Amino acid sequence: MKTLITGGAGFLGSHLCERFIKDGHDVVCVDNLLTGSRRNVSHLEDEKGFEFVLNDVSEHLDLDGDLDNLLHFACPASPVDYMRHPIETMKVEAMGTHNALKLAQQKGATFLLASTSEVYGDPLTHPQPETYWGNVNPIGPRSVYDEGKRYAEAMTMAWHRTHGLETRIVRIFNTYGPRMQLEDGRVVPAFVSQVLRGKRLTVFGDGGQTRSFCYVDDLVEGIVRLLNSGYSEPVNIGNPTEFTIAGFAELVQDVFGIQVGIEHLPLPEDDPKVRRPDITRAREILGWEPRISLEEGLRLSADYFRDEVSRIEGGGSGSA
Ligand code: UDP
Repeated sequence: MKTLITGGAGFLGSHLCERFIKDGHDVVCVDNLLTGSRRNVSHLEDEKGFEFVLNDVSEHLDLDGDLDNLLHFACPASPVDYMRHPIETMKVEAMGTHNALKLAQQKGATFLLASTSEVYGDPLTHPQPETYWGNVNPIGPRSVYDEGKRYAEAMTMAWHRTHGLETRIVRIFNTYGPRMQLEDGRVVPAFVSQVLRGKRLTVFGDGGQTRSFCYVDDLVEGIVRLLNSGYSEPVNIGNPTEFTIAGFAELVQDVFGIQVGIEHLPLPEDDPKVRRPDITRAREILGWEPRISLEEGLRLSADYFRDEVSRIEGGGSGSA
């Protein structure tokens, strides 16, 4: 089997590369390193079946030979990153998705789109099932990502309906684990690095907003099952255990055994007030549910985060 992963040098992409190499696939990792890092796949570079290709999929995407699976994960994914790169974000969801779908069709490969819980926006239905159409501000600062992913979902379904392409859509809820960028602004690396540096935790707003956090290994297992499922409608993959951000701040301090306190900062515009996946579909169709609790996942990620804090404080670059 040969599997191409766009955004393969990103946080989730690199875990997928690792998983498919472990499963015996040849893996082509395509990335332009805008927010990904070559370091994320350095441990795979000596594997016989692994190939890294520096390429911007918004410009073009080609491959010699056969291809069985194409997983489209290229896109800045943290609010800080996609607001810093708004045009690139829209381009990769529009042109990048088009180029990826075209290549999948040429090769007769199964196409899997990395979509997101952000398609539900600031949801008025809670928890969110796949049948909920969302509450998205089409022109707000998050819209480049939210509408980009909604457009990419629409295009994926259009190729499925028009060309009969084998397609999958995974709606990924907040996920964390080793190889997350320490400084991408997301709440897990933000709070963990603040605790490790002895700084107060920056809780945005009153901390009453909720999120549900999935450990990366659980997510990867869900994606592999979806890829192999033959199911073309969107599937939520995430952990349904919901935390307030204030509660998460307490948990991080308890897990690391370091009490630093919190400071409140303004809530970013359009920040969703609640988020929790309804995973009934994943349970029924994929026989999947997450296994790793937030506390356990934070412990599994602790060494990585400690090493990253030392590396960055020692003068190491935060990116490639
Ligand atoms: N958040 C926070 N402090 C931070 C970073 C994030 O309170 O330093 C909050 C943010 O406002 C949001 C939640 O944590 O309500 C999750 O934010 P994140 O950027 O991780 O991802 P999102 O789920 O918003 O895409």
